[in-house]
Amino acid sequence: LAKERGKNNYQFYTKEMTARSLERMTIERGLRHALLNNELLLHYQPQIDSSSGCIVSAEALVRWQHPEWGLVSPIRFISVAEETGLIVPIGIWVLRTACLQTKAWQENHGLLSQVAVNLSARQFLEHDLFETIKAVLEETGLNPSSLELEITESAVMQDPERTLAILQQLQELGIRLSIDDFGTGYSSLTYLRRFPVHSVKIDRSFVQDIPNDEGSMTLVRAIIALAHELKLDVTAEGVETEAQLAFLKTQQCDLLQGYLYSRPVTAAQLEIMGGEINGQCAPYRKISS
Ligand code: C2E
Ligand code: MG
Ligand code: MG
Ligand code: MG
Repeated sequence: LAKERGKNNYQFYTKEMTARSLERMTIERGLRHALLNNELLLHYQPQIDSSSGCIVSAEALVRWQHPEWGLVSPIRFISVAEETGLIVPIGIWVLRTACLQTKAWQENHGLLSQVAVNLSARQFLEHDLFETIKAVLEETGLNPSSLELEITESAVMQDPERTLAILQQLQELGIRLSIDDFGTGYSSLTYLRRFPVHSVKIDRSFVQDIPNDEGSMTLVRAIIALAHELKLDVTAEGVETEAQLAFLKTQQCDLLQGYLYSRPVTAAQLEIMGGEINGQCAPYRKISS
């Protein structure tokens, strides 16, 4: 009986494995096609200065407009892109598109002094990552100080010495660096001090529990205090409620990002929402999406 059951489990297991690897293969093939056929696009989620209430930056988030599946979330394809290495060309496409868009905004509307782009750990394995980023900035004409790169703690931890060297080059060029999903990885404290980062983004999972969970609130308070002590800016991600906003404001959190203000929107929608024009805060209009 045990043997029988074992066998069944085994069959079940392999069936699931097959379905999963099949889906991964389908996504991989689709992604190659997507890159060549312009099916990728960016949405932008505003980041609001907590004291002025002004949109000062936006995070570029990739989406995939599949002809049959519709708009595919990065949650479904980024891990496949990382495993297959496709994140490298996708990452370059994202960077170039975000830089081009922001440069155009700065010239035509005065919108957005900064854009934030996610970098995957996998991209740090490319020996020419720094040169590639530098070339994209030159080619698009965007000032390095207008670019913020978001990296996760795990990206830093894969090969700290190597990553440190690359981050130093990026910093010397004038690019801003932030640690994404802060608090969910390990080693935060030592690396915060050693690495040339400018800001941390508190992970949504901590923000979500405000104001009901004392533990999360203590953590958020401590992260903000520590970051400020180290002269780093703090962004809170996943701000959804007025209560969360109120708490983050009392803690002097610098930037706020979340559905309370806006979901990630298309470039055209962001233009309607306004932003920072010549260093002056433009009226911020909430749009429904
Ligand atoms: P992330 O970098 O931490 O981005 C924030 C995610 O949280 C986004 O999901 C955003 O839509 C979502 N979010 C923002 N505010 C709220 C909120 O108030 N409530 C809730 N529930 N969610 C909120 P998205 O766009 O699905 O992206 C998921 C992840 O995929 C990103 O997490 C990032 O790790 C990755 N990703 C997206 N675009 C890129 C990219 O161009 N390159 C790389 N390497 N990764 C990317
Ligand atoms: Mg991010
Ligand atoms: Mg994040
Ligand atoms: Mg997150």
